[in-house]
Amino acid sequence: MSANVVAIDGPAGSGKSTVAKAVATELGWSFLDTGAMYRAVTVAAYRYGVDLSDGDAMGLLARTVEIETLPRVAINGDDIEEEIRSAATNVGVSVVAATRKVREALVDRQREWAERQPEGTVVEGRDITTVVFPDARLKVFLTASLEERARRRNEEGEDSIARRDAADASRVVSPLRQAEDAIVIDTTGRSVEDVVKEIVECLKSHTSN
Ligand code: C5P
Repeated sequence: MSANVVAIDGPAGSGKSTVAKAVATELGWSFLDTGAMYRAVTVAAYRYGVDLSDGDAMGLLARTVEIETLPRVAINGDDIEEEIRSAATNVGVSVVAATRKVREALVDRQREWAERQPEGTVVEGRDITTVVFPDARLKVFLTASLEERARRRNEEGEDSIARRDAADASRVVSPLRQAEDAIVIDTTGRSVEDVVKEIVECLKSHTSN
């Protein structure tokens, strides 16, 4: 059985989480923020003293640590909602996300999770349309200007966002890129409602074709 998925990718601050959550609510589906999973593994490594450069140990950690993303992000039952947005996590997560064994572990977990969703699910990240769910019902690539993305993530700052984007786009394993058959939506200056409406309409027309 293949899961019923709307896949959304895009750079930091492009509106993925907000839009994905709203699309999920509109459809009555669940929602998965995969960035929170990479962040949770990063915080777990800091907490449990795992060396970020040890690929095998990081892969094992990513396979075994208990991760919750909703209603708040937690590892092994500990709330880390604040910690996952710290400056240290913003730096470490780029290294963690470039580690092949971590990606393999989290991709497996994301696919297993989607299979368990009774109606369907909206999943957002960097490799969802290209690697995790290349056969998703609908694939969306969200963009926005760097200024607007920095404004939305105002606590992080433009330099950190630009650095993360460059790392995500240039890494060897699963770099951020636009899937050929994804619909591209520039969210600069657009309301969440407007973007959500466009995605839901696209899903309906894809489904009826
Ligand atoms: O979406 P968010 O900014 O929270 O993601 C944090 C980091 O996690 C990204 O900069 C990226 O390095 C990584 N990530 C990823 N693949 C995903 C989701 C996030 O590499 N599917």
